[in-house]
Amino acid sequence: MNPRDSSKKPTNFIRNVINEDLSSGKHKSVITRFPPEPNGYLHIGHAKSICLNFGTAADYYGWCNLRFDDTNPAKEDVEYIESIKRDVNWLGFEWHDKVKYSSDYFNKFYQCATELVSKGLAYVCFLSADEAKEYRGTLTKSGVNSPYRDNPIEENLALFKKMKEGGFKEGECVLRGKIDMSSSFMCMRDPIFYRVRFDSHHQTADKWCIYPMYDFSHCISDAIEGVTHSLCTLEFQDNRRPYDWILENLDEFNKPDRPYQYEFSRLNLEYTVMSKRKLQQLVENKLVSGWDDPRMPTISGLRRRGYSAASIRNFAQRIGISKVDSVTDVGILEASIRDDLNVVAPRTMAVINPIKLVIENYPENKLETLLAPVHPQNEEMGKREILFGQELYIDREDFIEIPPNNKYKRLTIDKEVRLRNAYVIKAKRFECDENGDISIVYCTYDSETLGKNPADGRKVKGVIHFVEASKSIKAEFRIYNRLFFDPNPGKSDELSSSINPESLQVKIGFVEPNMLNAKAEMAYQFEREGYFCRDNKSDGLVFNKTVGLRDTWTQ
Ligand code: ATP
Ligand code: MG
Repeated sequence: MNPRDSSKKPTNFIRNVINEDLSSGKHKSVITRFPPEPNGYLHIGHAKSICLNFGTAADYYGWCNLRFDDTNPAKEDVEYIESIKRDVNWLGFEWHDKVKYSSDYFNKFYQCATELVSKGLAYVCFLSADEAKEYRGTLTKSGVNSPYRDNPIEENLALFKKMKEGGFKEGECVLRGKIDMSSSFMCMRDPIFYRVRFDSHHQTADKWCIYPMYDFSHCISDAIEGVTHSLCTLEFQDNRRPYDWILENLDEFNKPDRPYQYEFSRLNLEYTVMSKRKLQQLVENKLVSGWDDPRMPTISGLRRRGYSAASIRNFAQRIGISKVDSVTDVGILEASIRDDLNVVAPRTMAVINPIKLVIENYPENKLETLLAPVHPQNEEMGKREILFGQELYIDREDFIEIPPNNKYKRLTIDKEVRLRNAYVIKAKRFECDENGDISIVYCTYDSETLGKNPADGRKVKGVIHFVEASKSIKAEFRIYNRLFFDPNPGKSDELSSSINPESLQVKIGFVEPNMLNAKAEMAYQFEREGYFCRDNKSDGLVFNKTVGLRDTWTQ
């Protein structure tokens, strides 16, 4: 079977494995899973894994399960389950069948564990946590067998049953695999399979007081679901050993077409923390406004910031899949959104830092409706109406009393600029407010320059944007910068000291009247300013800056 669209997709080592498995007949189809733990919101790193798991399965006409890896009830919450489902759908993917939970398989896990105990391959161990650590040894020192390791099978079966029935306290004992205390892989030194926890579970309530560990539950969940290729990040490389050992020792799953685990490198982004634990810290310490703060690398934060699902999928494709750990330049993510929005975003004008402009030779009380293209490179998107009158707003940055040099192209006294989509004007004088800041610029306009150059051949180089003052609508603009000024903020556990105090600037300015109907999350290009979208949580007119028009970080 050849993958769908194979010519368009760059290949990678996982696709090579799949191609081999399909051609050798080891597997007949491709079934993957995305297994988030519901202990936080998904981030852009998860998006890489989602695109890989759902995308690869779809390319091979297979499917991908969404499975909540919910074996640690203490840290989990249904709020996270709902947000994860929403984010996966929003990214454009659909899971196969109904949503799955590792907790659906708690009975099966218990049976499997019992099978291993009855084969003499697992035992109940009463070493304290400190003792167990001592017995485990280190990377350079072999471990020592637990004194409980060779207890008779019958005794272990009874003890494990007692564990399940609530006969032991938390921390009193655990079920361990009987593997190899001298293995060079620490996770093979009699790993814990089950521990006692009297926490109530969000799916199974108080039915269970023993919960399986990741290494034990993950491989069995994959096998139950018929997953063929279990894709995870590189830090699980060693865990492939217990994964294989457990499945090979369970009669039902020890088959050639059982699942196998393959590891790829995780996404790390400069100037960003990615672990859910650290993101949670930002939320809890109120360093951001919530999981969906537009400065967060979460999928919901990026969405609220104005990132499109297409741009995130495109980003995942650009960075590709490899086995080499690296740190990705945030510029690549920003380029992905710019490429998408440049094509789809309607153009409009907004003045973010306004000063008044009064055109002294323009009739008072006259309002003209001018036409401007919605997208300069795409006529099919049509025209929009913009208003023009005697009083306008322009951006403070576009007027200067004394230009820095003769290359200055914006407005200054006695020089001409074009108002975008409108006339050529010349500044005459200005007024300041009580703080000495420029508040009004007076100018004249050339009525013969609408949509054409001056007839006498004068060259007007600069173009600035504006909105008409009487009908424009007041709006709030939230301008985001990097949340951290440290390129690797995650290296320390204390995040507050590397937070950029200017990561959010709020400005009050004006937009064209038709922006009153702007839809939340829909992207606009505010001409000369950047891409923005209306905030999906605020009632008033609030616009989040998604990204600038070009990369200003590297300049
Ligand atoms: P975190 O450390 O952020 O909490 P996690 O690995 O604990 O992440 P899970 O909910 O267990 O989070 O992850 C679900 C899936 O997403 C796993 O298969 C995991 O390998 C993958 N994943 C998590 N972070 C990244 C990342 N930065 N890049 C690529 N894949 C990731
Ligand atoms: Mg995890």
